[in-house]
Amino acid sequence: MERRVGDVEKKGTAAVASLLEWEYAPAPEARDLVRFEERYGLYVGGEQVEPRSKQWFATTSPATEEQLAEVALAGTEDVDVAVAAARDAFENGWSSLEPSERAKYLFRIARILQERSRELAVAESLDGGKPIKESRDVDIPLAAAHFFYYAGWADKLEYAFPNRRPRPLGVAGQIIPWNFPLLMLAWKIAPALATGNTVVLKPAETTPLTALLFTDVCRQAELPAGVVNIVTGDGSTGAHLVKHAGVDKIAFTGSTEVGKAIQRELAGTGTRLTLELGGKAANIVFDDCALDQAVEGIVNGIYFNQGHVCCAGSRLLVQESIYEPLVAKLKRRLTTLRVGDPLDKNTDVGAINSRAQLEKIRELVASGEEEGAEIYQPPCVLPEKGYWFAPTVFTNVAQSYRIAQEEIFGPVLSVLTFRTPEEALEKANNTAYGLSAGVWTEKGSRILWMAQRLRAGVVWANTYNRFDPTSPFGGYKESGFGREGGRHGLEPYLRFDE
Ligand code: NDP
Repeated sequence: MERRVGDVEKKGTAAVASLLEWEYAPAPEARDLVRFEERYGLYVGGEQVEPRSKQWFATTSPATEEQLAEVALAGTEDVDVAVAAARDAFENGWSSLEPSERAKYLFRIARILQERSRELAVAESLDGGKPIKESRDVDIPLAAAHFFYYAGWADKLEYAFPNRRPRPLGVAGQIIPWNFPLLMLAWKIAPALATGNTVVLKPAETTPLTALLFTDVCRQAELPAGVVNIVTGDGSTGAHLVKHAGVDKIAFTGSTEVGKAIQRELAGTGTRLTLELGGKAANIVFDDCALDQAVEGIVNGIYFNQGHVCCAGSRLLVQESIYEPLVAKLKRRLTTLRVGDPLDKNTDVGAINSRAQLEKIRELVASGEEEGAEIYQPPCVLPEKGYWFAPTVFTNVAQSYRIAQEEIFGPVLSVLTFRTPEEALEKANNTAYGLSAGVWTEKGSRILWMAQRLRAGVVWANTYNRFDPTSPFGGYKESGFGREGGRHGLEPYLRFDE
């Protein structure tokens, strides 16, 4: 059974209706490429173990609400055991292993991720709701690329930091979110292992399955027991890990609110910390840009992964002189986005990750309408079951509106205008966040002028949402601190004995 989005349909034009008559044939990826176990214990010391907490929770598909597996919920004692296993592995082998030997394990993991990429892509789309073409073409290849990249650094740390005697820290506690589950795991685990640390990683509650499949990758790679430990659970599991005195470093990606709580918790403890938090990026379009290319970049910037992206281009700043043609083109492009089954290879926008996230998006969208912004959603058919939200554009947005200030983390774009580069800059920087930005112009000098003044960790020029393991990523202000990726990504996992 399928239904149309009520008020969305009313806003359709005749041209759009004719577009809708044309349908793609379904092109589903094979569901049976992955087989989940009924129940997953914790992965500690190289084995799956029953949780001492004796607690379990279900992980479901956000597209169908079907239960995929039951997963252990790690309590305090479970975190203790995992940290002890990581400490043991650190002290009795891993940290003193020849760096070139460590590199071999990382290369092996990278290759196994490539070999198992179809299975992992299906698992990621089932558990998280993202379109298969994204998990297949972005998440899994990039996860493998991170392991390849950091494998290369493992035996070259002395060259990365000349005359500084780099040494591993010990046990890293790593907490990751639900928007790029396996990719965030790779961002965290690859540099930690390359630098000789061991890890205890907590995946997000709604997307634990690829991390659990990764434990089998570790087994295949014959990674020594205890080097990687996975403790599934909820926020309380993450909090135990943060508080644990046996952890030398916490690496966290998630909301600014939880990031601040972690920073407060660790203040004065000496535990090293990196935080990769939220964002409210400006995607800035000048009137001399290649317009069609910019429209594609805007769409990719906000509707990629349903907008569940910390660096999403969620604020579109358009130079006033091209506002009308750009918005017209954008709306037209939105009518061609296909929303639906994440496993269908034609799908552009998949399911919202959880009911809670859907409610958050709805609440913020309602606030946008109440505050006076004008909403546009293309005619689109949403499945009956699961969690869905139509791609949305708000025009007539004032800077003070919540939809221009707060991270929505959904497929919702707020459009604002500017007249001069100075005004664009002022508006772009007028946010508590500072993770990323985009600049669209044919003028190279303007790109450089803007990039030097934008308070954002990453600035893309005439492109958006491009990731590469060699390129450092991280924020300013409430988007956190520390960098992941590139040579910079090694440093948070090292101490230097001068
Ligand atoms: P959280 O910050 O709550 O979750 C991120 C990770 O931290 C998850 O593994 C979570 O576990 C864990 N966690 C939760 N509470 C604690 C705690 N007190 N101590 C340690 N770890 C904890 O994000 P949400 O999933 O709740 O999403 C809320 C909002 O955060 C989103 O709407 C979005 O705006 C933003 N967000 C930003 C992300 C980014 O990449 N910058 C990523 C995800 C969300 P569990 O999942 O089990 O609760």
